[in-house]
Amino acid sequence: MSGTAFRVAVVGSGPSGAYVAQELSEQAGLDAVVDVYERLPVPFGLVRYGVAPDHQRIKSIVGSLAEIFAHPRVRFLGNVRVGTDITFDELRQRYDAVVVACGASADRHLSIPGEDLPGVASATDFVAWYSGHPDAAVDRFALTAETAVIIGVGNVALDVARMLCRTPDELRRTDVPQHVVDVLAASTVREILVVGRRGPAHAKFSSKELGELRELSGTEVLADPDDLADDQAAAGSTQESPSTRRMLATLRGYAAGTPTGAHRRTVRFAFFRTPVAFVGEDSARGLRVIRRGPGQAEADEVLPAQFFVRSVGYRGLALPGLPFQPDTGTVPHAEGRVMDGTGELAGVYAAGWIKRGPSGVIGTNKQDAVATVAAITQDRARTTKPPRRGYEDPLPLLRERGVDVVEWSAWQRIDAAEEIAGRPLGRGRVKLHERGRMLAVASAQN
Ligand SMILES: Cc1cc2nc3c(=O)[nH]c(=O)nc-3n(C[C@H](O)[C@H](O)[C@H](O)COP(=O)(O)OP(=O)(O)OC[C@H]3O[C@@H](n4cnc5c(N)ncnc54)[C@H](O)[C@@H]3O)c2cc1C
Repeated sequence: MSGTAFRVAVVGSGPSGAYVAQELSEQAGLDAVVDVYERLPVPFGLVRYGVAPDHQRIKSIVGSLAEIFAHPRVRFLGNVRVGTDITFDELRQRYDAVVVACGASADRHLSIPGEDLPGVASATDFVAWYSGHPDAAVDRFALTAETAVIIGVGNVALDVARMLCRTPDELRRTDVPQHVVDVLAASTVREILVVGRRGPAHAKFSSKELGELRELSGTEVLADPDDLADDQAAAGSTQESPSTRRMLATLRGYAAGTPTGAHRRTVRFAFFRTPVAFVGEDSARGLRVIRRGPGQAEADEVLPAQFFVRSVGYRGLALPGLPFQPDTGTVPHAEGRVMDGTGELAGVYAAGWIKRGPSGVIGTNKQDAVATVAAITQDRARTTKPPRRGYEDPLPLLRERGVDVVEWSAWQRIDAAEEIAGRPLGRGRVKLHERGRMLAVASAQN
Protein backbone atom coordinates (compact mmCIF):
# COMPACT_ATOMS: atom_id res chain seq x y z
CA MET A 1 0.00 0.00 0.00
CA SER A 2 1.58 3.28 -0.98
CA GLY A 3 1.52 6.42 1.18
CA THR A 4 -0.63 8.08 -1.48
CA ALA A 5 -3.25 5.33 -1.59
CA PHE A 6 -6.77 6.38 -2.55
CA ARG A 7 -8.56 6.36 0.82
CA VAL A 8 -12.26 5.67 0.89
CA ALA A 9 -14.72 5.58 3.80
CA VAL A 10 -17.83 3.44 3.30
CA VAL A 11 -20.72 4.04 5.70
CA GLY A 12 -22.57 0.76 6.32
CA SER A 13 -21.49 -2.90 6.21
CA GLY A 14 -24.59 -4.39 4.58
CA PRO A 15 -24.36 -5.99 1.13
CA SER A 16 -23.98 -2.65 -0.66
CA GLY A 17 -21.16 -1.43 1.61
CA ALA A 18 -19.45 -4.79 1.21
CA TYR A 19 -19.80 -4.84 -2.59
CA VAL A 20 -18.50 -1.25 -2.86
CA ALA A 21 -15.49 -2.22 -0.72
CA GLN A 22 -14.91 -5.28 -2.91
CA GLU A 23 -15.13 -3.36 -6.18
CA LEU A 24 -12.80 -0.64 -4.91
CA SER A 25 -10.21 -2.98 -3.45
CA GLU A 26 -10.11 -5.09 -6.60
CA GLN A 27 -9.84 -2.22 -9.12
CA ALA A 28 -6.44 -2.54 -10.77
CA GLY A 29 -4.55 0.74 -10.68
CA LEU A 30 -6.86 2.49 -8.21
CA ASP A 31 -4.67 1.68 -5.19
CA ALA A 32 -7.75 2.02 -2.98
CA VAL A 33 -7.76 1.40 0.77
CA VAL A 34 -11.22 1.17 2.30
CA ASP A 35 -12.50 1.72 5.83
CA VAL A 36 -16.04 0.38 6.35
CA TYR A 37 -17.88 2.11 9.21
CA GLU A 38 -20.74 0.22 10.85
CA ARG A 39 -22.92 1.55 13.66
CA LEU A 40 -23.47 -1.96 15.09
CA PRO A 41 -20.71 -4.08 16.64
CA VAL A 42 -21.42 -6.68 13.93
CA PRO A 43 -21.32 -6.63 10.12
CA PHE A 44 -23.71 -7.62 7.28
CA GLY A 45 -26.68 -5.23 7.76
CA LEU A 46 -30.01 -6.73 6.76
CA VAL A 47 -28.46 -10.07 5.82
CA ARG A 48 -28.04 -10.55 9.57
CA TYR A 49 -31.04 -8.49 10.74
CA GLY A 50 -33.57 -8.73 7.90
CA VAL A 51 -33.31 -11.93 5.86
CA ALA A 52 -35.58 -14.39 7.65
CA PRO A 53 -33.88 -16.78 10.11
CA ASP A 54 -35.46 -19.80 8.42
CA HIS A 55 -33.80 -18.81 5.13
CA GLN A 56 -30.36 -20.02 6.21
CA ARG A 57 -29.32 -20.74 2.62
CA ILE A 58 -29.71 -17.06 1.72
CA LYS A 59 -28.07 -16.02 4.97
CA SER A 60 -25.04 -18.15 4.12
CA ILE A 61 -23.98 -15.32 1.79
CA VAL A 62 -22.30 -13.86 4.90
CA GLY A 63 -19.43 -16.26 4.09
CA SER A 64 -18.58 -14.38 0.89
CA LEU A 65 -19.26 -10.96 2.48
CA ALA A 66 -16.82 -11.88 5.28
CA GLU A 67 -14.08 -12.55 2.72
CA ILE A 68 -14.53 -8.98 1.48
CA PHE A 69 -14.13 -7.48 4.97
CA ALA A 70 -11.09 -9.68 5.67
CA HIS A 71 -9.28 -8.37 2.55
CA PRO A 72 -5.98 -6.63 3.46
CA ARG A 73 -7.12 -3.42 1.74
CA VAL A 74 -10.40 -3.32 3.67
CA ARG A 75 -10.78 -2.44 7.36
CA PHE A 76 -14.02 -3.01 9.30
CA LEU A 77 -14.71 -0.40 11.98
CA GLY A 78 -17.78 -1.62 13.86
CA ASN A 79 -19.70 0.11 16.64
CA VAL A 80 -19.04 3.52 15.06
CA ARG A 81 -22.09 5.57 14.20
CA VAL A 82 -21.32 8.10 11.50
CA GLY A 83 -23.06 11.35 12.37
CA THR A 84 -22.56 10.84 16.12
CA ASP A 85 -19.19 9.21 16.85
CA ILE A 86 -17.58 10.85 13.86
CA THR A 87 -19.24 13.45 11.69
CA PHE A 88 -19.75 13.22 8.01
CA ASP A 89 -17.52 16.32 7.53
CA GLU A 90 -14.75 14.67 9.54
CA LEU A 91 -14.89 11.73 7.15
CA ARG A 92 -14.74 14.05 4.15
CA GLN A 93 -11.66 15.76 5.60
CA ARG A 94 -9.85 12.47 6.13
CA TYR A 95 -10.75 10.48 3.02
CA ASP A 96 -10.51 11.03 -0.72
CA ALA A 97 -14.05 9.70 -1.11
CA VAL A 98 -16.99 8.78 1.13
CA VAL A 99 -19.60 6.25 0.02
CA VAL A 100 -22.86 6.23 1.92
CA ALA A 101 -24.38 2.73 2.05
CA CYS A 102 -26.37 3.03 5.26
CA GLY A 103 -29.52 1.28 4.02
CA ALA A 104 -33.14 2.03 4.88
CA SER A 105 -33.81 1.10 8.47
CA ALA A 106 -37.05 2.96 9.25
CA ASP A 107 -40.57 1.89 8.35
CA ARG A 108 -43.35 3.46 6.34
CA HIS A 109 -46.58 4.29 8.09
CA LEU A 110 -50.17 3.74 7.00
CA SER A 111 -51.10 7.16 8.42
CA ILE A 112 -54.51 6.02 9.61
CA PRO A 113 -56.16 6.56 13.02
CA GLY A 114 -55.20 4.12 15.78
CA GLU A 115 -51.78 3.31 14.35
CA ASP A 116 -50.12 4.10 17.69
CA LEU A 117 -52.38 1.81 19.73
CA PRO A 118 -50.72 -1.04 21.62
CA GLY A 119 -51.00 -4.18 19.53
CA VAL A 120 -49.94 -2.42 16.31
CA ALA A 121 -46.31 -2.88 15.31
CA SER A 122 -44.22 -2.35 12.23
CA ALA A 123 -42.64 -5.28 10.40
CA THR A 124 -39.35 -3.41 10.87
CA ASP A 125 -39.78 -3.76 14.65
CA PHE A 126 -40.97 -7.35 14.57
CA VAL A 127 -38.21 -8.46 12.18
CA ALA A 128 -35.56 -6.68 14.30
CA TRP A 129 -36.90 -8.42 17.41
CA TYR A 130 -36.92 -11.95 15.99
CA SER A 131 -33.53 -11.33 14.37
CA GLY A 132 -32.01 -10.43 17.76
CA HIS A 133 -31.13 -6.84 16.77
CA PRO A 134 -29.36 -5.13 19.69
CA ASP A 135 -31.77 -2.16 19.52
CA ALA A 136 -34.85 -4.41 19.94
CA ALA A 137 -36.04 -4.89 23.53
CA VAL A 138 -36.12 -8.56 24.57
CA ASP A 139 -39.70 -8.24 25.87
CA ARG A 140 -40.98 -6.15 22.92
CA PHE A 141 -43.42 -8.89 21.81
CA ALA A 142 -45.48 -11.34 23.88
CA LEU A 143 -47.66 -12.94 21.14
CA THR A 144 -50.70 -13.57 23.29
CA ALA A 145 -53.11 -12.75 20.45
CA GLU A 146 -55.31 -15.34 18.80
CA THR A 147 -55.52 -13.57 15.44
CA ALA A 148 -52.80 -11.53 13.76
CA VAL A 149 -53.30 -9.25 10.78
CA ILE A 150 -50.36 -8.44 8.54
CA ILE A 151 -50.98 -5.42 6.33
CA GLY A 152 -48.92 -5.58 3.16
CA VAL A 153 -48.39 -8.00 0.32
CA GLY A 154 -44.63 -8.27 -0.16
CA ASN A 155 -42.06 -10.89 0.80
CA VAL A 156 -41.45 -9.28 4.21
CA ALA A 157 -45.13 -9.91 5.05
CA LEU A 158 -44.58 -13.57 4.11
CA ASP A 159 -41.44 -13.72 6.29
CA VAL A 160 -43.48 -12.44 9.24
CA ALA A 161 -46.31 -14.91 8.54
CA ARG A 162 -43.87 -17.84 8.29
CA MET A 163 -42.08 -16.91 11.51
CA LEU A 164 -45.46 -16.86 13.28
CA CYS A 165 -46.09 -20.41 12.02
CA ARG A 166 -42.74 -22.09 12.62
CA THR A 167 -42.68 -24.92 15.15
CA PRO A 168 -40.26 -24.78 18.11
CA ASP A 169 -38.15 -27.49 16.44
CA GLU A 170 -37.88 -25.49 13.24
CA LEU A 171 -36.99 -22.36 15.20
CA ARG A 172 -34.23 -24.21 17.02
CA ARG A 173 -32.64 -24.95 13.64
CA THR A 174 -32.15 -21.19 13.15
CA ASP A 175 -29.79 -18.76 14.90
CA VAL A 176 -32.48 -16.67 16.66
CA PRO A 177 -31.81 -15.86 20.33
CA GLN A 178 -33.37 -18.18 22.90
CA HIS A 179 -35.92 -15.58 24.14
CA VAL A 180 -37.29 -15.41 20.59
CA VAL A 181 -37.62 -19.20 20.37
CA ASP A 182 -39.40 -19.18 23.76
CA VAL A 183 -41.90 -16.45 22.85
CA LEU A 184 -42.67 -17.86 19.39
CA ALA A 185 -42.99 -21.39 20.81
CA ALA A 186 -45.51 -20.16 23.40
CA SER A 187 -47.38 -17.97 20.89
CA THR A 188 -51.17 -18.25 20.99
CA VAL A 189 -51.58 -16.90 17.46
CA ARG A 190 -53.73 -19.33 15.46
CA GLU A 191 -54.95 -17.30 12.52
CA ILE A 192 -52.81 -14.99 10.38
CA LEU A 193 -54.58 -12.76 7.90
CA VAL A 194 -52.46 -11.13 5.19
CA VAL A 195 -54.30 -8.10 3.83
CA GLY A 196 -53.71 -6.17 0.60
CA ARG A 197 -55.20 -2.89 -0.56
CA ARG A 198 -55.16 -3.77 -4.26
CA GLY A 199 -55.86 -6.99 -6.13
CA PRO A 200 -53.72 -10.14 -6.17
CA ALA A 201 -51.91 -9.19 -9.38
CA HIS A 202 -50.43 -6.16 -7.65
CA ALA A 203 -48.97 -8.21 -4.80
CA LYS A 204 -45.18 -8.11 -4.59
CA PHE A 205 -44.79 -11.71 -3.39
CA SER A 206 -42.31 -13.86 -5.24
CA SER A 207 -44.05 -17.06 -6.29
CA LYS A 208 -41.27 -19.09 -4.62
CA GLU A 209 -41.85 -17.51 -1.19
CA LEU A 210 -45.62 -17.70 -1.64
CA GLY A 211 -45.42 -21.39 -2.53
CA GLU A 212 -43.15 -22.06 0.46
CA LEU A 213 -46.12 -21.47 2.80
CA ARG A 214 -47.60 -24.72 1.52
CA GLU A 215 -44.67 -26.59 3.06
CA LEU A 216 -45.13 -25.18 6.56
CA SER A 217 -45.91 -28.01 8.92
CA GLY A 218 -49.25 -27.85 10.73
CA THR A 219 -50.38 -24.83 8.72
CA GLU A 220 -53.21 -24.48 6.24
CA VAL A 221 -53.10 -21.69 3.70
CA LEU A 222 -56.26 -20.19 2.26
CA ALA A 223 -57.24 -17.24 0.11
CA ASP A 224 -60.59 -15.52 -0.27
CA PRO A 225 -62.08 -17.13 -3.43
CA ASP A 226 -64.05 -13.96 -4.22
CA ASP A 227 -60.76 -12.07 -4.66
CA LEU A 228 -59.63 -14.50 -7.34
CA ALA A 229 -62.96 -15.36 -8.93
CA ASP A 230 -62.79 -12.70 -11.62
CA ASP A 231 -59.69 -13.61 -13.67
CA GLN A 232 -59.45 -10.25 -15.36
CA ALA A 233 -59.70 -8.22 -12.16
CA ALA A 234 -57.40 -10.55 -10.23
CA ALA A 235 -54.79 -10.35 -12.97
CA GLY A 236 -55.03 -6.54 -13.16
CA SER A 237 -54.35 -6.73 -16.91
CA THR A 238 -54.36 -9.35 -19.62
CA GLN A 239 -50.59 -9.03 -20.01
CA GLU A 240 -49.34 -10.09 -16.64
CA SER A 241 -45.70 -11.23 -16.49
CA PRO A 242 -44.79 -14.93 -16.16
CA SER A 243 -43.86 -14.39 -12.48
CA THR A 244 -47.23 -12.71 -11.79
CA ARG A 245 -48.94 -15.59 -13.54
CA ARG A 246 -47.13 -18.11 -11.33
CA MET A 247 -47.99 -16.10 -8.21
CA LEU A 248 -51.67 -15.94 -9.22
CA ALA A 249 -51.72 -19.68 -9.89
CA THR A 250 -50.39 -20.30 -6.37
CA LEU A 251 -53.01 -17.98 -4.88
CA ARG A 252 -55.76 -19.70 -6.87
CA GLY A 253 -54.56 -22.99 -5.39
CA TYR A 254 -54.93 -21.49 -1.90
CA ALA A 255 -58.39 -20.10 -2.79
CA ALA A 256 -59.52 -23.56 -3.94
CA GLY A 257 -58.71 -25.08 -0.54
CA THR A 258 -61.43 -25.97 1.92
CA PRO A 259 -60.83 -24.85 5.51
CA THR A 260 -60.45 -27.89 7.74
CA GLY A 261 -59.71 -26.17 11.05
CA ALA A 262 -57.53 -29.18 11.84
CA HIS A 263 -54.23 -27.34 11.73
CA ARG A 264 -52.12 -25.54 14.33
CA ARG A 265 -52.18 -22.33 12.29
CA THR A 266 -54.07 -20.86 9.36
CA VAL A 267 -52.67 -18.26 6.98
CA ARG A 268 -55.37 -16.51 4.95
CA PHE A 269 -55.01 -13.94 2.16
CA ALA A 270 -57.51 -11.13 1.64
CA PHE A 271 -57.17 -8.52 -1.11
CA PHE A 272 -59.07 -5.41 -2.24
CA ARG A 273 -59.23 -4.14 1.37
CA THR A 274 -58.06 -0.60 2.08
CA PRO A 275 -57.20 -0.06 5.76
CA VAL A 276 -58.87 3.07 7.12
CA ALA A 277 -58.47 2.81 10.93
CA PHE A 278 -57.48 0.56 13.79
CA VAL A 279 -60.34 0.22 16.24
CA GLY A 280 -60.06 -0.28 19.98
CA GLU A 281 -59.81 1.69 23.21
CA ASP A 282 -56.72 0.67 25.18
CA SER A 283 -55.34 -1.56 22.47
CA ALA A 284 -56.16 -2.36 18.85
CA ARG A 285 -58.99 -4.89 18.52
CA GLY A 286 -59.76 -4.64 14.83
CA LEU A 287 -58.79 -3.15 11.50
CA ARG A 288 -61.49 -1.21 9.69
CA VAL A 289 -61.16 -1.65 5.93
CA ILE A 290 -63.10 -0.60 2.88
CA ARG A 291 -63.60 -3.53 0.59
CA ARG A 292 -63.67 -2.74 -3.10
CA GLY A 293 -63.73 -6.17 -4.71
CA PRO A 294 -64.34 -6.74 -8.42
CA GLY A 295 -68.03 -6.65 -9.26
CA GLN A 296 -68.97 -6.08 -5.61
CA ALA A 297 -70.60 -3.14 -3.90
CA GLU A 298 -68.18 -1.16 -1.75
CA ALA A 299 -68.40 -2.41 1.84
CA ASP A 300 -67.10 -1.38 5.23
CA GLU A 301 -65.62 -4.31 7.21
CA VAL A 302 -63.87 -4.70 10.53
CA LEU A 303 -61.26 -7.46 10.67
CA PRO A 304 -61.10 -8.51 14.34
CA ALA A 305 -57.63 -9.33 15.69
CA GLN A 306 -55.38 -8.52 18.62
CA PHE A 307 -52.00 -8.18 16.89
CA PHE A 308 -51.33 -6.11 13.80
CA VAL A 309 -48.13 -5.83 11.79
CA ARG A 310 -47.89 -3.19 9.09
CA SER A 311 -45.52 -4.30 6.39
CA VAL A 312 -45.76 -1.51 3.87
CA GLY A 313 -42.09 -0.81 3.23
CA TYR A 314 -38.82 0.34 4.67
CA ARG A 315 -37.44 3.87 4.29
CA GLY A 316 -34.05 5.51 4.70
CA LEU A 317 -33.14 7.96 7.43
CA ALA A 318 -31.25 11.23 7.03
CA LEU A 319 -27.59 11.12 8.00
CA PRO A 320 -26.60 14.40 9.72
CA GLY A 321 -24.74 16.63 7.25
CA LEU A 322 -25.79 14.64 4.17
CA PRO A 323 -28.41 15.82 1.61
CA PHE A 324 -31.65 13.83 1.93
CA GLN A 325 -34.99 13.55 0.08
CA PRO A 326 -37.62 13.00 2.79
CA ASP A 327 -40.33 12.06 0.28
CA THR A 328 -38.39 9.05 -1.01
CA GLY A 329 -36.22 8.42 2.05
CA THR A 330 -33.10 8.37 -0.16
CA VAL A 331 -30.11 10.63 -0.83
CA PRO A 332 -30.32 12.66 -4.04
CA HIS A 333 -27.73 11.44 -6.56
CA ALA A 334 -26.79 11.35 -10.21
CA GLU A 335 -25.33 7.95 -11.16
CA GLY A 336 -24.20 7.45 -7.58
CA ARG A 337 -22.73 10.96 -7.13
CA VAL A 338 -24.51 12.64 -4.22
CA MET A 339 -26.10 15.98 -5.12
CA ASP A 340 -26.82 18.92 -2.88
CA GLY A 341 -28.89 21.99 -3.83
CA THR A 342 -26.09 23.39 -6.01
CA GLY A 343 -24.71 20.31 -7.75
CA GLU A 344 -22.46 17.33 -7.04
CA LEU A 345 -21.04 17.06 -3.54
CA ALA A 346 -17.43 16.41 -4.53
CA GLY A 347 -16.10 13.05 -3.39
CA VAL A 348 -19.41 11.84 -1.92
CA TYR A 349 -21.26 8.84 -3.36
CA ALA A 350 -24.16 6.57 -2.46
CA ALA A 351 -24.94 2.88 -2.93
CA GLY A 352 -27.66 0.37 -2.05
CA TRP A 353 -31.01 1.07 -0.43
CA ILE A 354 -30.16 4.62 0.68
CA LYS A 355 -29.43 5.38 -2.99
CA ARG A 356 -32.29 3.66 -4.80
CA GLY A 357 -34.83 2.88 -2.08
CA PRO A 358 -35.78 -0.46 -0.51
CA SER A 359 -36.15 -2.72 -3.52
CA GLY A 360 -34.48 -5.68 -5.15
CA VAL A 361 -32.66 -8.69 -3.82
CA ILE A 362 -29.18 -8.88 -2.29
CA GLY A 363 -27.62 -9.36 -5.75
CA THR A 364 -29.19 -6.10 -6.98
CA ASN A 365 -26.82 -4.28 -4.62
CA LYS A 366 -23.86 -5.80 -6.42
CA GLN A 367 -24.75 -4.20 -9.78
CA ASP A 368 -25.59 -1.01 -7.93
CA ALA A 369 -22.17 -0.98 -6.19
CA VAL A 370 -20.43 -1.61 -9.52
CA ALA A 371 -22.21 1.46 -10.98
CA THR A 372 -21.24 3.67 -8.02
CA VAL A 373 -17.60 2.53 -8.15
CA ALA A 374 -17.57 3.24 -11.90
CA ALA A 375 -18.50 6.87 -11.07
CA ILE A 376 -15.72 6.99 -8.45
CA THR A 377 -13.11 5.64 -10.88
CA GLN A 378 -14.19 8.06 -13.61
CA ASP A 379 -13.91 11.00 -11.20
CA ARG A 380 -10.57 9.73 -9.95
CA ALA A 381 -9.24 9.54 -13.52
CA ARG A 382 -10.47 13.06 -14.25
CA THR A 383 -9.22 14.75 -11.09
CA THR A 384 -6.49 17.32 -11.31
CA LYS A 385 -6.08 17.41 -7.52
CA PRO A 386 -2.52 16.50 -6.45
CA PRO A 387 -2.27 13.27 -4.44
CA ARG A 388 -3.01 13.72 -0.76
CA ARG A 389 0.09 14.07 1.43
CA GLY A 390 -0.04 12.30 4.75
CA TYR A 391 -3.12 10.65 6.17
CA GLU A 392 -4.70 11.04 9.57
CA ASP A 393 -6.08 7.72 10.77
CA PRO A 394 -9.46 8.36 12.49
CA LEU A 395 -8.99 5.42 14.88
CA PRO A 396 -7.08 7.38 17.58
CA LEU A 397 -9.69 10.14 17.42
CA LEU A 398 -12.50 7.60 17.88
CA ARG A 399 -10.72 5.98 20.84
CA GLU A 400 -10.10 9.44 22.37
CA ARG A 401 -13.86 9.96 22.15
CA GLY A 402 -14.44 6.76 24.08
CA VAL A 403 -15.79 4.79 21.10
CA ASP A 404 -15.28 1.07 21.60
CA VAL A 405 -14.35 0.29 17.99
CA VAL A 406 -14.94 -3.32 16.95
CA GLU A 407 -12.37 -4.31 14.33
CA TRP A 408 -12.60 -7.46 12.22
CA SER A 409 -10.69 -9.73 14.64
CA ALA A 410 -13.01 -8.54 17.44
CA TRP A 411 -16.08 -9.39 15.33
CA GLN A 412 -14.56 -12.84 14.77
CA ARG A 413 -14.60 -13.31 18.55
CA ILE A 414 -18.33 -12.48 18.59
CA ASP A 415 -18.85 -14.86 15.67
CA ALA A 416 -17.02 -17.68 17.51
CA ALA A 417 -18.93 -16.97 20.77
CA GLU A 418 -22.25 -17.34 18.90
CA GLU A 419 -21.24 -20.76 17.61
CA ILE A 420 -20.09 -21.83 21.07
CA ALA A 421 -23.40 -20.61 22.57
CA GLY A 422 -25.26 -22.91 20.18
CA ARG A 423 -23.40 -26.11 21.08
CA PRO A 424 -25.00 -27.06 24.43
CA LEU A 425 -28.43 -26.42 22.87
CA GLY A 426 -27.69 -28.58 19.84
CA ARG A 427 -27.94 -25.50 17.64
CA GLY A 428 -25.40 -24.37 15.03
CA ARG A 429 -25.36 -20.83 16.38
CA VAL A 430 -27.28 -18.62 18.78
CA LYS A 431 -26.99 -14.91 18.11
CA LEU A 432 -25.79 -12.58 20.83
CA HIS A 433 -28.34 -9.78 21.04
CA GLU A 434 -27.19 -7.42 23.79
CA ARG A 435 -24.79 -4.73 22.69
CA GLY A 436 -22.96 -4.76 26.08
CA ARG A 437 -22.38 -8.51 25.85
CA MET A 438 -21.23 -8.24 22.24
CA LEU A 439 -18.71 -5.55 23.20
CA ALA A 440 -17.49 -7.56 26.19
CA VAL A 441 -16.90 -10.60 23.98
CA ALA A 442 -15.31 -8.42 21.29
CA SER A 443 -12.78 -6.97 23.71
CA ALA A 444 -11.98 -10.24 25.56
CA GLN A 445 -8.41 -11.41 25.06
CA ASN A 446 -7.85 -15.02 24.07
C1 LIG B 1 -37.09 -8.17 6.30
C2 LIG B 1 -36.22 -8.27 5.07
C3 LIG B 1 -35.99 -9.51 4.50
C4 LIG B 1 -35.20 -9.61 3.36
N1 LIG B 1 -35.00 -10.83 2.81
C5 LIG B 1 -34.26 -10.95 1.69
C6 LIG B 1 -34.06 -12.24 1.10
O1 LIG B 1 -34.56 -13.26 1.60
N2 LIG B 1 -33.31 -12.30 -0.04
C7 LIG B 1 -32.73 -11.18 -0.59
O2 LIG B 1 -32.06 -11.28 -1.64
N3 LIG B 1 -32.91 -9.95 -0.06
C8 LIG B 1 -33.65 -9.81 1.07
N4 LIG B 1 -33.84 -8.58 1.62
C9 LIG B 1 -33.24 -7.41 0.97
C10 LIG B 1 -31.75 -7.19 1.36
O3 LIG B 1 -31.62 -7.39 2.74
C11 LIG B 1 -31.33 -5.77 0.94
O4 LIG B 1 -31.34 -5.73 -0.49
C12 LIG B 1 -29.93 -5.37 1.39
O5 LIG B 1 -29.68 -5.70 2.73
C13 LIG B 1 -29.74 -3.85 1.23
O6 LIG B 1 -28.38 -3.60 1.45
P1 LIG B 1 -27.81 -2.21 2.00
O7 LIG B 1 -26.37 -2.48 2.23
O8 LIG B 1 -28.19 -1.11 1.11
O9 LIG B 1 -28.57 -1.95 3.40
P2 LIG B 1 -28.45 -2.72 4.79
O10 LIG B 1 -28.36 -4.17 4.59
O11 LIG B 1 -29.56 -2.18 5.62
O12 LIG B 1 -27.06 -2.22 5.41
C14 LIG B 1 -26.88 -0.90 5.88
C15 LIG B 1 -25.91 -0.90 7.05
O13 LIG B 1 -25.58 0.45 7.39
C16 LIG B 1 -25.50 0.56 8.79
N5 LIG B 1 -25.68 1.97 9.18
C17 LIG B 1 -26.82 2.68 9.14
N6 LIG B 1 -26.61 3.94 9.58
C18 LIG B 1 -25.29 4.02 9.90
C19 LIG B 1 -24.48 5.08 10.42
N7 LIG B 1 -24.98 6.30 10.70
N8 LIG B 1 -23.17 4.82 10.65
C20 LIG B 1 -22.63 3.59 10.38
N9 LIG B 1 -23.38 2.55 9.89
C21 LIG B 1 -24.68 2.78 9.64
C22 LIG B 1 -26.61 -0.35 9.28
O14 LIG B 1 -26.45 -0.73 10.64
C23 LIG B 1 -26.48 -1.53 8.32
O15 LIG B 1 -25.60 -2.51 8.82
C24 LIG B 1 -34.63 -8.45 2.77
C25 LIG B 1 -34.86 -7.20 3.36
C26 LIG B 1 -35.64 -7.12 4.50
C27 LIG B 1 -35.89 -5.76 5.11
